Amino acid sequence: MGTRQSREIDARLREGGTVVAASERGARAVLAAYHRARRAEGLKAWAAPDVRDWHSFALREWERRNGDARMVLNPLQEQALWAEIVKEMGGAAAELEAPRQRLAAMAMDAHRLLCSYAPIYLDSRTRSGWQQDAGEFSRWLSAFEELCRKRECMSAARLALELAGWIEKDGANRNELLLVGFDRILPAQSALLRAWSAWREAVADEAAQEVSFWQAADSRDELAACALWCRRRLEANPETKLLVVTQNKAGQRGEIERMLLRYALPTGEARTNASFFEFSLGVPLAGTALGRGALTTLKWLSAPIAENELDWLLSTGQLAANDDEMRALAAHMRAIRRRNLQRPEWTMTDWIMQRGAGPLPEAWKQRVIEAQRQRDAQIRWAQTPMKWAELAQTLLETAGWPGGRPLGSEEYQVNARLARVLDDCASLGFDGTTIKWSDFLSALERAAMQSLFSPESQDAPILIAGPAETAGLEVDGIWFLGASDDAWPASGTTHPFLPISVQREARMPHAAAQFDWELAEAITKRLMASAPQVNFSFARQGDDIEARPSRLIANLAGEPRELPPELRPPSSGEPVTESWTDESRVPFPGGNVHGGAAVLTAQSQCPFKAFATARLGAEEWDAAEAGLTAAQRGQLLHAVLKLVWDPAKGGINTRAQLAEKIDLREFTSPLVKSAMADAQRTSGWGWMPPRYLELEQVRLTNLVAEWLEYEKTRLPFTVEATELRREFQIEGIDLSVRIDRLDRLNDGKVLVIDYKSGNVNPNQWDLPRPDDVQLPLYAGFALNSATEDAGGLVFAKIRAGELEFAGRIEDAKGTLRQKISGNSNLVKKPLTLEQMNLWKKYIEKCARDFMTGCAEVDPRDYPETCKYCALGPMCRIAELQEQSGSIGGNEGADNG
Ligand code: SF4
Repeated sequence: MGTRQSREIDARLREGGTVVAASERGARAVLAAYHRARRAEGLKAWAAPDVRDWHSFALREWERRNGDARMVLNPLQEQALWAEIVKEMGGAAAELEAPRQRLAAMAMDAHRLLCSYAPIYLDSRTRSGWQQDAGEFSRWLSAFEELCRKRECMSAARLALELAGWIEKDGANRNELLLVGFDRILPAQSALLRAWSAWREAVADEAAQEVSFWQAADSRDELAACALWCRRRLEANPETKLLVVTQNKAGQRGEIERMLLRYALPTGEARTNASFFEFSLGVPLAGTALGRGALTTLKWLSAPIAENELDWLLSTGQLAANDDEMRALAAHMRAIRRRNLQRPEWTMTDWIMQRGAGPLPEAWKQRVIEAQRQRDAQIRWAQTPMKWAELAQTLLETAGWPGGRPLGSEEYQVNARLARVLDDCASLGFDGTTIKWSDFLSALERAAMQSLFSPESQDAPILIAGPAETAGLEVDGIWFLGASDDAWPASGTTHPFLPISVQREARMPHAAAQFDWELAEAITKRLMASAPQVNFSFARQGDDIEARPSRLIANLAGEPRELPPELRPPSSGEPVTESWTDESRVPFPGGNVHGGAAVLTAQSQCPFKAFATARLGAEEWDAAEAGLTAAQRGQLLHAVLKLVWDPAKGGINTRAQLAEKIDLREFTSPLVKSAMADAQRTSGWGWMPPRYLELEQVRLTNLVAEWLEYEKTRLPFTVEATELRREFQIEGIDLSVRIDRLDRLNDGKVLVIDYKSGNVNPNQWDLPRPDDVQLPLYAGFALNSATEDAGGLVFAKIRAGELEFAGRIEDAKGTLRQKISGNSNLVKKPLTLEQMNLWKKYIEKCARDFMTGCAEVDPRDYPETCKYCALGPMCRIAELQEQSGSIGGNEGADNG
């Protein structure tokens, strides 16, 4: 790049001088530039330059001198000391672990601010007038100092101040330091530099020759413009280095990635995002797959974990020695769900011991049981964090984590980082403290949340960084996103533990708008001197509010202009994927079909749904709930009603017998009890509290009794069968169905009944494209034509406060209930032969479509049909919808 500043830095390093950068990223950038320059000179080897970020420079100099042998605390150790003080002095607010740790982190931050900006207040006499929260913090600070003195340690925030004293004393010759990328020099840094005496800042370059300020309609257009600009620059020069500055890296990360992949890749290039762009700030270690896997494994060895967490852990293969084990573990979980045995949480023992879910791999069982045994053998007493860190490593190894598959380069780095975090946690015992295993796990989780991981830099052409992390970087072009008035200068709140007057006096961040303005101005000017071309941009439409351009940027870069045509994304939105219409069809060979009759309902709702569920075996799972799931409640209701209408099991089977039952609760109660006992034997309800199951029993008894009260108002009927199994064939598909109940009516015809505890409406059967064909299918194909003439098909809606039959009946007043209102749909929309024939024809057409392999993504009524369908990620309906603007809808409605 050869700017004046980079030449100065290079010259200083070649002379063997020391360069101190404001940030770690800045130090890395200076090092990378130095090595690049040596390679460009054709050198094969050269001496390592002395480049440090501020903190590591101060630490090195302290360790070189370290006159009183005090240990410098790492952040975890310091927070543990603060937590100890907060626990002792924080009162009720600090009794629970989580609030205590939050208070400790805030106190640590307040101490850091005092050390950096207002060291004078480290002397307790200057804090005598501090009141309320500040007064409380002042007492904590005195206790912290006392604790540090006793334990012969020191906060890293004090390093610069303490070091300044030692440097003044040693009188040794010191190299002149060259400082790079400092937006401001804080009082603590000033103290150290004064003591060092020989230092200066690298001379900043002139402001960029080309500075622009753009306004975009919304953030999507803004990101697209930035990505298109990157692409143009990279196409012009593939060696170019670009910097994208964003203030909202975490929130915008996904969106930035998508836009760069979509618009910034130069034509003809097939780079992955890993080689094409990189983020300067990492993600929490606990958020990486391996980090999360290790923490979840350790937690599962000690306590129950949520079912979805367990599902995730097993699906990653981090506990499987090989693919066979991984498949077996997944199959075990699937079997649990198929049998409706899911639970909100699983202990390891319960999961292993769960009956009815098939065998688990023996080697896997032995590993995790051995890990549990090792844990149980050691966790009875408090131990040093060092001992716990060793145990955590041992347990992970014994349990087989991170699995048998080879790790990729990034996973190795995560693994190494995790080992460092375990070392940090082990160092919590620096003062001889012993803690419980559960406290160690909490500390490990906190440390993994606070520790940021980013893969080693690949020196990618595009770097995405926050404004503060750009200190010391020099690139060929910069794009600064989000330069709106409310976002830049960045605003924030003052620290609640420090008096406002102190924060103002020391010019701490956010203590006055003027300070934020000055800092933002310094950063902006530095950025403008860090590249020959600098763009600023903002989106006019923010989160539901109209945004204005940043006044600061407008002052320095001029008023914003509309984006030029070459930086506007194509209005139709170029699809990321190439679309291709697959018109091939793979016919179904006939015979039994997975899912039974539901496949024809699915074919009517959306052909792809039928194909995916019946032919690919795609399944959707009900999430476990703290109590019985809706499906389990439905099954119970069916089981009770089967007993009610079975004379052999203590029930009845006619309207006349029902009329004789005066106390319906007394009649129903033993049947409900018996059904629940049966269900409990075959299901995994053992973990549910008995009192909850008792209440469920009462609820169900009342509901069924109320329903029977309603059935008493019917005209005479006989229950011919319940849960009646019938098998038949439609267009080559073998179907096996189970009819909930078949009643013989007073005119000799039969009524097909389906129990429903959810919200249903017979309109779902309406042609030309029904949402549900289950009962029309039963009535049209499952009845014996010689003896079972369909007189009606109804849902029995059994919901608290909504008890009724709903459907189509030939003669509702004559066969169901005499007193039925003339306005009822049962009367207004009777079942007719013509209707039955139309349904049959439609169902046969669905069957033919299924047989021919018709699998179009064509929901009956988008988005309603898709609302409760879990296949969205497979059919990619959202993507299709975005591309076409509108698909499906009722287009297929004429098919019938
Ligand atoms: S999500 Fe919608 S489009 Fe996709 S399979 Fe389900 S119903 Fe069809």
